[in-house]
Amino acid sequence: MAEAAQGVHCIATPAGTNAVLILDDAQTWWLLDPGCAMDTWVVHKAVCSVLGDVKPTGIILSHGHGHVAGAAGELAAEWGCPVYCSAAEAPMVHGVISYPPVDTTCHGIASATARFRKEPQAAALPDAVTLDSDCPMQGWELLALPGHTPGSIGFFRAVDGVLLAGDALSTIDWDQMIPMWRQTKQLRMPPNIDTLDWVAVRRSLRLIASRMPKMVIPAHGHPLLECEKGVPDEASHLAEVGIVSRKGRYVADPAVLRSDNTWQLYDPIPDPAGNIGKWMVLAGIAVYLFLIIRLW
Ligand SMILES: [Zn+2]
Repeated sequence: MAEAAQGVHCIATPAGTNAVLILDDAQTWWLLDPGCAMDTWVVHKAVCSVLGDVKPTGIILSHGHGHVAGAAGELAAEWGCPVYCSAAEAPMVHGVISYPPVDTTCHGIASATARFRKEPQAAALPDAVTLDSDCPMQGWELLALPGHTPGSIGFFRAVDGVLLAGDALSTIDWDQMIPMWRQTKQLRMPPNIDTLDWVAVRRSLRLIASRMPKMVIPAHGHPLLECEKGVPDEASHLAEVGIVSRKGRYVADPAVLRSDNTWQLYDPIPDPAGNIGKWMVLAGIAVYLFLIIRLW
C-alpha cells in the first residue's frame, strides 16, 4: 500500500477501487470508500498493517454504490465505528430506495456489460450517520459533488491540493476499451453506466477545477498528479467540452431524486444495440476461456 500524500494511504482493492486511509490534522484516522463486500478482509488487513491496534474513527462514503460501500457495514461492526454519508445520499445508503436502472445506451464497453445488471447495488446501511456541510476530517473541506449520484461528495485539502474525488471523476477512460483495460492514467468522466445527472456532473467538475487540485485520488483508477496531466485544466475541459459529446439515457433527462424519496425518471431512450452487446460480451468470455484452456 502506497502513501500517496502526507497521511493519505491508498489501498487498491481486488475489485479495482481505491479505499483511502486518511490521518487528519487532529491525528485521527478515517477510511474513505472501503470497497465492495468481497474486499472487506483485504482492506481490513491493509488498514491494520498501517494502524496496528489503533482503529479508524469513522468510515466515510463518497456515495452509496456497493462497489465502494459494500464493505462498510462489516468493517464498522468490527471496529465499532460509525459510517457517514451525505444527507442527499442517505435514502439509498439507508436502503429506503434503490438507485435507478443502469444506462445501457452510453458510450463504451461498460454499457455492454451493463446489460447483465438492472441497477447499482446500494450499501444498505440503515444506521449510517448523515453529514451536514461540516467536514468530520480536520484540515479537509467537504465538497458536494452531485451528478454520479445525488449525494456524491469529495474532500479537498488546501494545504497541498489533494482531492479525494470518489466517483465525481475517474482516471480511467470508461468510453474506450483499450485505455480502460490498460487503465491508462488520464483525467476522465465518472463511471458512465451509473451516472444519473450529467448537468450536475458539469457543475461538480467546475467546482473541482476551481479548487486547483494538485493531486486527484478517485474511487477508480490510479492517483493523478497535477504535474502529470494538468488537473484543473483537464477538469475544466471535461466540464465544458466532454459533456457536450455524451450520449445516454441520463444526459438529456437526468434521474432526479424528489423530496418524497422517489425518482423522477423519463422513459429509456431507444437502445439500437439491443442484446448484441450482451452476446458480444458472452462471446468474448467464451473465446478468452477457450484460449486459456488451449494454452494451459
Ligand atoms: Zn459509483
